[in-house]
Amino acid sequence: MARSYVAEARRRVGPKRKRIVPIVERLLDEHPDATIALRFGSDLELLVSVMLSAQTTDVNVNRVTERLFRKYKRPEDYLAVPVEELENDIRATGFFRQKTKALRGTMTMLIEEYDGRVPDRIEDLLRLPGVARKTANVVVAERGDAVGIVVDTHVRRLSQRLGLTRQDDPVKIERDLVGLVPRRYWNVFPHLLIWHGRRVCIARSPRCEECVLTDLCPASRLEIGTVASHGGA
Ligand code: SF4
Repeated sequence: MARSYVAEARRRVGPKRKRIVPIVERLLDEHPDATIALRFGSDLELLVSVMLSAQTTDVNVNRVTERLFRKYKRPEDYLAVPVEELENDIRATGFFRQKTKALRGTMTMLIEEYDGRVPDRIEDLLRLPGVARKTANVVVAERGDAVGIVVDTHVRRLSQRLGLTRQDDPVKIERDLVGLVPRRYWNVFPHLLIWHGRRVCIARSPRCEECVLTDLCPASRLEIGTVASHGGA
């Protein structure tokens, strides 16, 4: 029974290739303010913020970096203090020991191999200790030339609900999205899904009745209700 609802829902909304641009355009209208929530004033601050944001909220990171960035301005500054001092300065972001290790390793490589600058290419960013694909994607995208699509928990959930992917693994989801979303939207697409995920398509109780994507979404509760009642008639 559940399977037939899913198939019916997919038929109702049509193929994802036809839906993707209307989905993006409606979300752009709905969330014109959708940008990265992290606060930073330089490439180095961007990199550090994204590294600190693993397993915590952007609000929490901003609280910590407000003070951190007044004290640490150059890569050398992160190496000039005792390890325990840096650990204390970022403690509130959680996993502070691993993050301190990653920050110090990254700063060392930036100084030794990149003249103290954050490199532009994703291949170089991925060489930095503790910088995984998601971090590198965010950094490159924020500098205006996304080479992939950032997949976090909101992007994963909404991509699945919207029927844009059947995958569960972030790397495979990214592959599906990159093949589907026009490149001009790669920068903004994750922000749109993140903001829509926070404001409307909430994890436990999506507010389908307030959602601008109801007729484009196979998971819409409103439309499923319609299908169910038609099916029962
Ligand atoms: S219609 Fe419902 S499930 Fe679909 S995106 Fe909107 S809130 Fe989420």
